[in-house]
Amino acid sequence: MTNFNNLFNRQSQEQQEKSGLAPYACHSSNSIGRLYKEDEHPIRTCYQRDRDRIIHSTAFRRLNGKTQVFVANTGDHYRTRLTHTLEVAQIARSISRMLRLNEDLSEAVALAHDIGHPPFGHAGERVLDELMQPYGGFEHNRQALRMVDLLETRYPDYSGLNLTAETRRGILKKKNYDLKSIPGIAHQLPLEAQVVDIADEISYTTHDLDDGIESGLLSLSGLEDIPLWRDAVNAVCEHYPDLDEKRIRIRVISRLINELVNHIVTYTFQQLSTHRSFDDNTISFSPEWNEKIAQVRKFLFANLYRHPRVVQSNSRSDEIVRQLFAHYCGKPDLMSPSYRMRIETEGLERSVADFIAGMTDRYAEEDWKANAGM
Ligand code: MG
Repeated sequence: MTNFNNLFNRQSQEQQEKSGLAPYACHSSNSIGRLYKEDEHPIRTCYQRDRDRIIHSTAFRRLNGKTQVFVANTGDHYRTRLTHTLEVAQIARSISRMLRLNEDLSEAVALAHDIGHPPFGHAGERVLDELMQPYGGFEHNRQALRMVDLLETRYPDYSGLNLTAETRRGILKKKNYDLKSIPGIAHQLPLEAQVVDIADEISYTTHDLDDGIESGLLSLSGLEDIPLWRDAVNAVCEHYPDLDEKRIRIRVISRLINELVNHIVTYTFQQLSTHRSFDDNTISFSPEWNEKIAQVRKFLFANLYRHPRVVQSNSRSDEIVRQLFAHYCGKPDLMSPSYRMRIETEGLERSVADFIAGMTDRYAEEDWKANAGM
């Protein structure tokens, strides 16, 4: 039996959490625990173990082949869901650390936050939700929980990853779900998960600007009417008057992430010090910054998400998902065995939705060419 007593083992880390983390943080020694009882790990805390289980999951690896805004594999420089996820984890950890929250829990939730997305981003989600309306709909947060609770099959004694109650609650985010119908889940949304939600917003808002400009769909001059962008450009150009356009863009994005993170940390700290309690909406931008971000989001909707090239690519994705769904509902025997096996307990349509949701963009595209459409 290995002796870990002289190392910085789980117990010493739990001790350090007690003295180092804020009282409103999730301490791993106070976790509600896992649905299926397991011995604690000698070295890693329960949230570190959650994080590692997520990283080793199949769903996590597939993030590499899934669209953020641009169809995966259309350009090497754009974000995929995997690189987006890593950015979210990095931003969330920075915020959590400064607020003395549990960085490991934030990291675990961040790494899992997008694993429920079907191929082709929101276009894929919209059409699956429409097709699944008679059977309970489709929504990516619920699907992410389904993946970690049921669809990952890696352990001998149970389906899913058997994550802690707090990580599972974090995966569902702020939305209104009937938590009573979900066994063994925490009811309070941890602050660590709220941090991930805001880190997600900071990440996609800034990198969609970055990728949008890189792709040529957004122009720098079009952004001049957005105060948040204009102020950041002015500040960068004041320091570096001779900088080329590409480096201005990169410095501006970096500056914006910094500003947003600093704002969240100072504003949240102020909120927590004043109210001394928290709810599901404690971590948020101030009304003034909310307005600034809303202007950017509005700009991105009008000029990037509804750009004719993006819309065209979305309608093709819509058709692919629609035809794959009809194809596998008609011929369920052609699905992978693990999805076929669940038809009896989960129903035909739900099992088909699970199968399609797990596909990467490339797999869906190739499978569609080979089977469903042409
Ligand atoms: Mg995300």
